[in-house]
Amino acid sequence: MKHHIDKTLLSATKIAARIEELAQEITDDFSDDGEITIVPILTGSIIFTADLIRQIKLPMRINLITVSSYPGSAIRSQGATVLGQQLGNIKGSHVLLVDDILDSGTTIRAVVPLLKELGAVKVRVAVLLNKNKPEAAGAPCDFVGFNIPDEFVVGYGLDYDSYYRNLPNIVTLKGV
Ligand code: 5GP
Ligand code: MG
Repeated sequence: MKHHIDKTLLSATKIAARIEELAQEITDDFSDDGEITIVPILTGSIIFTADLIRQIKLPMRINLITVSSYPGSAIRSQGATVLGQQLGNIKGSHVLLVDDILDSGTTIRAVVPLLKELGAVKVRVAVLLNKNKPEAAGAPCDFVGFNIPDEFVVGYGLDYDSYYRNLPNIVTLKGV
């Protein structure tokens, strides 16, 4: 691979500590709702979701949606495309939508209305990272792990051209 890790923005230890807090906030928010439907946005949120949901002590089921906005080696959003979904019957459900990062907000703005159209009665959004871009202002977002600078990051589920998802830390790359 041509690219090399530049710097560590968030260590695995720091991520784990924050996820514990987030899980508590989410548990409190959904505690009167009976059960939660977790909807991870694939592929980037798989590791975040796996760690987060094991700390949420409420009954839940998981339904999937795949959205692509950075196809291949793109490092700027190319607009959100829903590539596939296995949402099943979410009518009347209380949904926690989970994404890796809030960038332009296009993904969240596309998926939240879809979940509501399919009958979800409550939709909360959790993102691990938020770049706080002006374009994303007004995109629904209820739980944020970390606010980060506007840099392209990989690791802990986030990819560049499908690589680096397995890195335990969140890092920037040289030469992208
Ligand atoms: P948005 O639709 O908010 O522009 O972008 C959200 C999606 O774009 C994220 O789910 C993620 O897949 C991708 N994305 C945005 N910023 C980054 C980044 O810095 N690194 C990586 N690897 N993906 C990003
Ligand atoms: Mg994504």
